[in-house]
Amino acid sequence: MAVHLFVPHFSVEECLEEVRACLERGWTGAGYKTLEFEAEWCRQTGLAHAHFLNSATAGLHLALEVLKRRLGWAAGDEVISTPLTFVSTNHAILHAGLRPVMADVDRFLCLDPDAVAARLSPRTRAVMFVGFGGTAGRYAAVRDLCRARGIALILDAAHMAGTRLDGAHVGHDADAAVFSFHAVKNLPTGDSGAVCFAQGVDDAAARRLSWLGIDKDTYARTQSDATYRWRYDVADTGFKYHGNSIMAAIALVQLRHLERDNARRRQLAARYRARLAEDPRVTLQPEAPDCVPSGHLFPIRVDRRDDLMAWLNAREVYPGVHYRDNTEYPMYADQAGHCPAARAASLSLISLPLHLGLDEATVDHVAGLVRQGLDAVGAAPAVAS
Ligand SMILES: *Cc1c(COP(=O)(O)O)cnc(C)c1O
Repeated sequence: MAVHLFVPHFSVEECLEEVRACLERGWTGAGYKTLEFEAEWCRQTGLAHAHFLNSATAGLHLALEVLKRRLGWAAGDEVISTPLTFVSTNHAILHAGLRPVMADVDRFLCLDPDAVAARLSPRTRAVMFVGFGGTAGRYAAVRDLCRARGIALILDAAHMAGTRLDGAHVGHDADAAVFSFHAVKNLPTGDSGAVCFAQGVDDAAARRLSWLGIDKDTYARTQSDATYRWRYDVADTGFKYHGNSIMAAIALVQLRHLERDNARRRQLAARYRARLAEDPRVTLQPEAPDCVPSGHLFPIRVDRRDDLMAWLNAREVYPGVHYRDNTEYPMYADQAGHCPAARAASLSLISLPLHLGLDEATVDHVAGLVRQGLDAVGAAPAVAS
């Protein structure tokens, strides 16, 4: 039987019940379930604010727009980012009219604090930290560096729904943390996300910008006359980024099961670890100190990656690659050459299948095939990373 990288799991009956409530009420848009989800997400994570959106991509852009406006950043100001990420991270920087500056990753596959320090300039305004695969890497050191220099910190937490660091859910100590609830992430809906700001003013600004700059609250304050309920002010151009109640209904259900689901992912990951740790040809992503990861990805690094991938595909095992070094894309080619570790990782990484449809026997099967495949393609032992 084919083994796929990701297979979303939904609590179908529970989801249908929540969605039914939206349809029967005749309210599928923003408000209602989106507000319920925001409140429940904040309650469960301890984050101060959350604004439910149609994607994490929208959230990353919105985070930068909001901070840029409040802090007075200029076009072309710099944001330090990683080349080892989904393109959303870096596109968001360009969408905000800012300049991505790539810094290298460490053995956790997250931004290396020393590499970040080396790429600071007088125009650095923010750092975009990606919690690769759900780990926090050396996030705390990057946070401290940002604080010491007065630089904003945005956590791309697309992989991190449920990740804990030092006992708390991640995101509370960033200026903004952005989560993805895309179907293949740890809290799958159809497609949605959330931006979680530390400050209430930023959350309020995001709410205005996420619906075309329409400022209903301001209007409500100045016009109590019910005759003018249909009127609103438009204070900004804004975007069409807000989430809807159908997605939020599904998110509410999935959130109930997030802890259980992530615990299961970690169990499966531990099983892979046990099966592969002894193989000198396999480099595992180290576990970050004080971090309970969400268990979004199970990345390994191997020699002859492309050959191994083809060998596994021929046996109906379909791993993924997270990620191609973004500086290989024409969009970001101007940043090439600064990140040798990310480049090397991008040539050797494979994400093994990890989802709730797997059982122990399938993990053993995949791990066994990986080792056989490494024999077959003649992979060399890993050099120390
Ligand atoms: C999936 C992902 C995103 C984008 O999430 P969407 O909700 O699909 O927009 C951003 N960053 C990273 C690292 C991701 O993996």
